[in-house]
Amino acid sequence: MTELEKLKEQLLKCKRCSLHETKQNYVFGEGNPNADVLFIGEAPGANEDKTGKPFIGTAGKVFTELLASIDLKREDIFITNILKCRPPKNRNPTNNEIDLCTNFLLQQIDIIKPKVICTLGNFASAFILKRYGLNNEMNAINKLHGKLFKVKTLFETIKIIPLYHPMVAIYTPDMKKFLLEDFQVIKNEL
Ligand code: URA
Repeated sequence: MTELEKLKEQLLKCKRCSLHETKQNYVFGEGNPNADVLFIGEAPGANEDKTGKPFIGTAGKVFTELLASIDLKREDIFITNILKCRPPKNRNPTNNEIDLCTNFLLQQIDIIKPKVICTLGNFASAFILKRYGLNNEMNAINKLHGKLFKVKTLFETIKIIPLYHPMVAIYTPDMKKFLLEDFQVIKNEL
């Protein structure tokens, strides 16, 4: 069993927060375990909860299109979320849920060792920037999106690119151009 598979086994037993009582399926994340790029969304929605797969609903369709715009397929990357269980009615994650759940995400990062981490939306961006000591006053996705941050860890340099959540392109179709532009930033870093 690979390290990621072992971690997934642990997730399937998780009862750290109350979301395990209301979820249908845990959504671990999926993709290439050796991916250079890791995408991090917010939390599973209804379709993801039903199937246990990340980003397969409306936001997922936009996401797959954005990937294709830089010649990447879902199998080339790894995608997961800050929370592994769906919050009821898709409400925002609470700070407590984020505190209790993100140990899984941090272990995924340690195992996959991505060169580039792309955060989708405010929650993922705020968590990752803070985690890597980049918590600055610009902590809002409309100021941060498409910017490249470089963080030196003990062994390597990780690039972090905050992005709008793909769902914004559904609510406000005019915003899709920003996502397309920002995906070019990813392409330039690969
Ligand atoms: N939105 C997210 O942030 N994650 C998903 O998996 C689906 C929708």
